[in-house]
Amino acid sequence: MKQHFYPGLLIFFFLCSSPVSAQKPAKQPDAGPGAVSRQTIEAHLSFLASDALEGREAGRNGGRVAAEYIKAVLSEYGVKPFYDTYFQRFEAYSPAREKGIDFQVHPDSIARYRQLPVYRRLNLQNVVGCIEGEQKDGYVVIGAHYDHVGVDDLLVGDRIYNGADDNAASVAALLQIAELFAASGKKPVKSIVFAFWDGEEINYLGSEYFVENFGDPSRIKAYINLDMISREGLMPVLYPQFEIPEASAENTAAGNQFHLAFTGELEDLSRKTVAAIADHHLDIAPKPVVMEHGSRGSDYLAFSLRRVPVLWFFTGLHPDYHTPGDETGTVRLEKLTDITKAVYLTLQQSANEK
Ligand SMILES: [Zn+2]
Repeated sequence: MKQHFYPGLLIFFFLCSSPVSAQKPAKQPDAGPGAVSRQTIEAHLSFLASDALEGREAGRNGGRVAAEYIKAVLSEYGVKPFYDTYFQRFEAYSPAREKGIDFQVHPDSIARYRQLPVYRRLNLQNVVGCIEGEQKDGYVVIGAHYDHVGVDDLLVGDRIYNGADDNAASVAALLQIAELFAASGKKPVKSIVFAFWDGEEINYLGSEYFVENFGDPSRIKAYINLDMISREGLMPVLYPQFEIPEASAENTAAGNQFHLAFTGELEDLSRKTVAAIADHHLDIAPKPVVMEHGSRGSDYLAFSLRRVPVLWFFTGLHPDYHTPGDETGTVRLEKLTDITKAVYLTLQQSANEK
């Protein structure tokens, strides 16, 4: 099979053993979800979850390389930066680690911590692209965190937390969707913000910083969250009763399932997603579930606390969750590809509602 190289990404060839390469989908206007390419998703995923990125820890080199990669891909795809640049840089502060207090991005907390004799600081960056819609002031934000938990140098054996399902797979899916929306050349009704969050694994820092600094959050008509969308469909109870399930025949049988969690306002959108999955004969089984505003678990928290309607795609926890075993080889690529198509259809619906 002939392989295309992304010319803007040559720098990354030196960082990983398998070069970033993929068969690009035909760039036809309105090619629809059929243009979602498994090979493209796999290429992004296998780079982001490679050992070379050292678990993409927020504030560390691996996390910064991931951010540079996402920026280069967005630029290559013709997705414009949301701000003056693709990077939304910010700092997070905490007291010394023995105090056991999480990093914060709020100016009040920062001012307080900076008066301490010693305090901790992290330099972080969200990567944010945009496709402008007819409405300049009505947004759909779709986001996935790109950071993970890094490396444990003291581990004997595999020391690298690759975070393939959590959350390189979602980043790969979102890059593919951004490419297709940009390639269509069509202006959506609402502006679409493609957000790649930093610092989720610490305290949802990137999404919190973005929403805190967005201005009036009522301009965001929906937030679509992608976090852990590529595994077999083990079905935990949603947070706060998160429990990591054991692998079992029953869970494996649930292989094509995923949670479609939504706050009440998006019941209609979630119904349309379920219908679109059936219309397009996708081999995935959505399990709609209502989520309360203010429930924790992923980057939707910052939005839902400000009453922004939220929809979350999530295939559930699994025994490799937050272990070095969360590697590219355990991802279900067919399922991930079909979920990417479902997200594409959901975004198209949501961004074009008047
Ligand atoms: Zn995650």
